[in-house]
Amino acid sequence: MKGEFVLTFFGVRGSYPVPGNMTRRYGGNTSSLLLEAGGRSVILDAGTGIIQAGRRLSTRRGTRRPIHIFLTHLHSDHIMGLPFFAPMFDPKAEIVLHYPESRGSGSRQALEALFLPPYSPITLQGIKARLRFEPLAARNGAAVIDLGAGLEVAHARHDSHPRLGVLIYRVRFAGGRLVYATDVESPAGFSGAIHDFIAGADLLVHDAQYSEMDYFGGGAPGAGEAARWPAGSRRGFGHSTVSMAARNAAACRVKRLYLFHYDPRYSDGQLDEMLALARREFRRTFLAQEGKSITIRR
Ligand SMILES: [Zn+2]
Ligand SMILES: [Zn+2]
Repeated sequence: MKGEFVLTFFGVRGSYPVPGNMTRRYGGNTSSLLLEAGGRSVILDAGTGIIQAGRRLSTRRGTRRPIHIFLTHLHSDHIMGLPFFAPMFDPKAEIVLHYPESRGSGSRQALEALFLPPYSPITLQGIKARLRFEPLAARNGAAVIDLGAGLEVAHARHDSHPRLGVLIYRVRFAGGRLVYATDVESPAGFSGAIHDFIAGADLLVHDAQYSEMDYFGGGAPGAGEAARWPAGSRRGFGHSTVSMAARNAAACRVKRLYLFHYDPRYSDGQLDEMLALARREFRRTFLAQEGKSITIRR
C-alpha cells in the first residue's frame, strides 16, 4: 500500500547459525532483514537469513527493480548467505551491494572471495545478475542514497565493534523511519551524533546480544578495574546487553524497539526472559523473530 513500508526479519541471530529445537520460535539464521516500500526492495545484511529472502524475491513478478543490499560490516555472520542468494544467479536481476570501505580494508576483494575457490566453486563468471559494488565511506555525514519513490537510506559510523566498526543505517519512506543498529556496544549510551541520527525513529532494531549477567561475566562490581570485570566478561566484544538497547531506545525516544542479534547460545525461553527485563526499561520492546513482518505506517 502507498505510504507504508514492510520490514521482514529473515535472520535474527548473531555470530553463527543455530538450527534446532531451542531456536525454533525466534529462528536460528544470522542477520538479514528485507524492507519493501514503494515497489522497491532493500536488504540489510546478508547473513544466512538472506537465503530465504532471496527465495521470496525470486517468486515476485512485475517490474524488476534493482535489489539494494546494505552491509553493516563484513563479519562472516553478516555476509555468509551471499553466495546462496538466488537472485545472484538470475540474468534478469540487478543487485547493488553497498558496503563500508575504509582505506586499505580491501572490502570488495573480500566480498568477491566468497564466490571464488577455495571458499566456493562459483567464480565471478558464475554470478548471472548484473552486480554492482558501491563502497560507502565509513564516516559520518555522507550523502543520503535516494532509491526513488521517496525511499532514502542514510548511514552513520559507530566505532565500538572490533576492529573496523560498523555502519548504522536509517531508512526513510513516506515519513516513516527505521534504524538498524547492530553490532554496537555503548555502556554509557550513544554519543550526540548517533543519538541525533536515531532520534524519533518509528522502529529501532538494536543489538541485544547479551544478558547483563553474561556481559559482566557473572561478577558483582567490585573495587578497581580488575575486580569489576572478571574473566568471562564480554565487555569490549562490540555488542550490547538488552538493557543498553532499552536505554538507547528510551534516550532516542523511538516508538518501538526490536531486540536483535541474539547470542547463539540462548534458547527461545531465555529470549522471553530477556524481553521481560527489557520491557521494565522500555515498554514498547519486542523480539525480532525470523519470518515475522512488521508494517510501518504514517
Ligand atoms: Zn554480528
Ligand atoms: Zn560483527
